[in-house]
Amino acid sequence: EARESKDRRRRRRRRMAMDLERVVEQARETFESGGTRSYFWRRSQLRALKDLLHEKEAAICEALKLDLGKHRVEAYRDEIGFVIKSVDYALQNLKKWMKPEKVSVPLVGFPTTCEVVLEPLGVVLIFASWNFPIGLSLEPLIGAISAGNSVVLKPSELASASSKFLATNLPKYLDNKAVSVIEGGPLVGQQLLEQKWDKIFFTGSARIGRIIMTAAAKHLTPVCLELGGKCPAIIDSLSRSRDVKVAINRVAGAKWGFCSGQACIAIDYLLVEEKYAPFLVELLKEKIKNCYMRPADLTRIVNKQHFQRLREMIEDPLVADTVVHGGSLDQENLYIEPTILLDPPLDSEVMKEEIFGPLLPIITLKKIGDSIEFLKGRPKPLVIYAFTNDEKLKKRIIEETSSGTVTFNDAVIQFALDTLPFGGTGESGFGKYHGRFSFDQFSHRKAVMRRSFCLEFSFRYPPWNERKLQF
Ligand code: NAD
Repeated sequence: EARESKDRRRRRRRRMAMDLERVVEQARETFESGGTRSYFWRRSQLRALKDLLHEKEAAICEALKLDLGKHRVEAYRDEIGFVIKSVDYALQNLKKWMKPEKVSVPLVGFPTTCEVVLEPLGVVLIFASWNFPIGLSLEPLIGAISAGNSVVLKPSELASASSKFLATNLPKYLDNKAVSVIEGGPLVGQQLLEQKWDKIFFTGSARIGRIIMTAAAKHLTPVCLELGGKCPAIIDSLSRSRDVKVAINRVAGAKWGFCSGQACIAIDYLLVEEKYAPFLVELLKEKIKNCYMRPADLTRIVNKQHFQRLREMIEDPLVADTVVHGGSLDQENLYIEPTILLDPPLDSEVMKEEIFGPLLPIITLKKIGDSIEFLKGRPKPLVIYAFTNDEKLKKRIIEETSSGTVTFNDAVIQFALDTLPFGGTGESGFGKYHGRFSFDQFSHRKAVMRRSFCLEFSFRYPPWNERKLQF
């Protein structure tokens, strides 16, 4: 019996692999036919995507509610509205992005003209993560179709309602010969990686990022890895009470009001001067009391495994003593209260691993300037946040630390700017996207040189003699 079910499993896998092959073949045929290259095709796909977001807003909210208990307002702000904004930006700029770029040529090259032509890469594979399952699937898709590629999208299996939504609806709105959605988990992911792609765009963990890069090496496929890590926020001792108030709003919003901290750009922990910490803790407690007490206002933890992971972080005996607010857990509803930890050990899981949840450690330092040394000894984060009016400190942060982004006096909002490149460095990944950077991410910059047959110089060719060096 065991053998029979093993055989059945093997047969099922083979069938799945063949189905995937067919999808990729079709995507390649469509790309090779040239249809995805035209401006009109690209524009029609972007418009169709926008129609989908408008017409299916309620269904998307429903899926996000099922997957993560996301409030409708959060769902619109971070996923639906966010993607509509990006589509609009792409539609406004598409013609300009597609134009070949003129390149200057030195006089000695006369008569020559040069340009850079933006060429679609071909068939691209997009892996998305579960925390913004619609936004992080569609944002790279915008870049891929704007650049004229065929696309296979694999949403995360952990956000299954959103994955189903995309698989059902994208083919209805977009050109389903060029854009496909494949649902599934790691096994399907691995089977997809066995195919030959012209680009793999991956949003997820560094652990799987390594698997992606290894598989891509086989076909020399370029990759873009949008990974995570621990994003710190340096909180200087602000003197003006209004600044303090705004800073607290923004810090709390970037932890508990943004997918309950389950976000790559959420604030992971705070760095603060020892003497300022008690005041900061009181203000954060107050903020939680006023805004983050109702479970309905908080996105829930995605599943039991992640809940358990966070539970272990808090219940570590050396960490449990450092809880100064919150800490209650409701396993049935996958709800964790906004929790503040004061000076948990730096070698505990909560300070070694990406938290990805509503726990906020505060690490105290003698002087705020010590935060720079603290960060220099750690992996390069996706974002460093700093709340300060001290221009010297800002300059030091920019010049002496390394991260995908630095944001002063706010958090998370940088993600919404189409004009800023988004992406990591070092452990937080590589490759940029959003706006024009997405278009470039999915394009090949082909150098084109045009020469005429006039003006020919013999010094370029043998037979060599000393006189030819005079030129
Ligand atoms: P993950 O790495 O577990 O999964 C990401 C994707 O890879 C999913 O689609 C998953 O199905 C697929 N996958 C899993 N195992 C695979 C395998 N063996 N082979 C092929 N594919 C496989 O990540 P996650 O849990 O979905 O997301 C959380 C992580 O993503 C966090 O580290 C977070 O910081 C990061 N993240 C980064 C960004 C960013 O923009 N930089 C955004 C969101 C999340």
